[in-house]
Amino acid sequence: MKSDLVIVYHRQPYEEVEIDGKIELRENSSPNGIVPTLKSFFGRVDHASWVAWKYADDPANPDFDRVIDINDSYGSYSVSRLPLTKEQVSSFYHVSSKEAFWPILHGFKERYNYDPVDWPTFRQVNWAFAEAAAAQATDDAVIWVHDYNLWLVPAYLRQLKPNARIAFFHHTPFPNPDLFNVLPWREEIIKSLLQADAVGFHIPRYSNNFKAVARSLTSSKTIDETVTSDEMSPRGMALSERMTVRAIQHHDHKVIVDTSPVGVDTDYIAECVAAPQVDEKVDEIRADLGDCKLIVSVSRTDYTKGNIEQLEAFERLLSNRPDLHGKVRLMHVSVGANRNMTAYEEIQQRIEELTGRINGTYGSFEWQPVALISTAIPFAELVAYYRAADVAWITPLADGLNLVASEFCAARSDNEGVLVLSEFAGTAVLLDGAIPVNPFSHASMDSGIEQALSMDPIEARDRMQRLRNRVARFDINAWVKSQVELFDRLRQR
Ligand code: UDP
Repeated sequence: MKSDLVIVYHRQPYEEVEIDGKIELRENSSPNGIVPTLKSFFGRVDHASWVAWKYADDPANPDFDRVIDINDSYGSYSVSRLPLTKEQVSSFYHVSSKEAFWPILHGFKERYNYDPVDWPTFRQVNWAFAEAAAAQATDDAVIWVHDYNLWLVPAYLRQLKPNARIAFFHHTPFPNPDLFNVLPWREEIIKSLLQADAVGFHIPRYSNNFKAVARSLTSSKTIDETVTSDEMSPRGMALSERMTVRAIQHHDHKVIVDTSPVGVDTDYIAECVAAPQVDEKVDEIRADLGDCKLIVSVSRTDYTKGNIEQLEAFERLLSNRPDLHGKVRLMHVSVGANRNMTAYEEIQQRIEELTGRINGTYGSFEWQPVALISTAIPFAELVAYYRAADVAWITPLADGLNLVASEFCAARSDNEGVLVLSEFAGTAVLLDGAIPVNPFSHASMDSGIEQALSMDPIEARDRMQRLRNRVARFDINAWVKSQVELFDRLRQR
């Protein structure tokens, strides 16, 4: 059956593992905030499907199991798997996306590697995604494309399915023209995005950058989109005050530039928190800590996430504050998601070296200052660490949004715990109540963590209540609602 809503995201909603010769579906083992976010959509929308890639030695093999039906706690939907060879995946994902686009999107020009990009393969893979999506969609379906690896899909879909409503959502930051225009394929990318009916971003800064890039490369102009305040209310007044909902006019086509931050599933997190095994785990963690304070830090291993800057700040803290020796522990979860890529392996190695140096310099038989964890912790267990922590220390140098910061607050139904948050995490514009830090400044990093560790409990409570209100207001339901409204608006055009 064809779908009225086709989600196109490069990864499958589940991982396939072979057990005793049989293929079973499992939750993805590497941490990823996007997959569960998109899955939570299925409960709310009928006839939806998902398009992703799957390795195939021979993409032309007729026995390749292309479409599977899934019935899970989110709902019923089909997953269409696009067969790609290892070479195609490596070229479009590991090289073009991760070595060229990712550093530019996050402001790391010095890491940008243009030479190995094979643009014809990037085009070819994006074309194949567009074909797979078109095959799943009814003629006037909404086709919702996710993230920079699929930047060319809107243009190809417009050829293949002229009447489809095409929406595109960026989960990363979007840079200003000085950075974006470094990409030699900039015009082709922007012209593709301008063939979508809506292009979405988490926060106003990224939307504004996109509009500036579009103006710098095309004759498009920004126009006012008439949206009543009622339609904007689900996004919350505080955000909408700073947000101008605008569209871009490109020739005779109008593209809505939508700003709506993805939220966390506060109901699910509340359920996890209420589970008796979480209480037991929290008691176990606290008993193990004794009178030590616990700082948690959770991220993927990536040069954008500020792991090194954070460990260095922790080292300075221990050097400056001997009174904290034996009184504070950092649980640094840094999960390697992109193995076999030099940039990520180097970061992982530096994290291990720094942890070794800190533990070697300051640790004792009874006290290990840093607990480094490099394998993914199942979410339900992570919630117990969020609950047991005194401080969550989230210090990316650049981050599209950052769900961990919001999850920490959602887990603190006790209204305790302090959040220290980098001002370069997209979510910093929402999370009023966090201690903001600039990870590029030693002084800011040092004072931020010291302030958190010595915060008066009444102030901490007040801040956490404010944070929890923000997280509840911009939760996953608010995002789904805003996107469904957007799709309705596109359908009415
Ligand atoms: N996560 C997890 N186990 C881990 C580390 C991370 O389940 O050991 C989850 C975390 O709870 C969050 C997601 O992975 O939901 C990471 O999303 P975020 O937006 O913070 O960062 P991203 O990796 O998408 O840049």
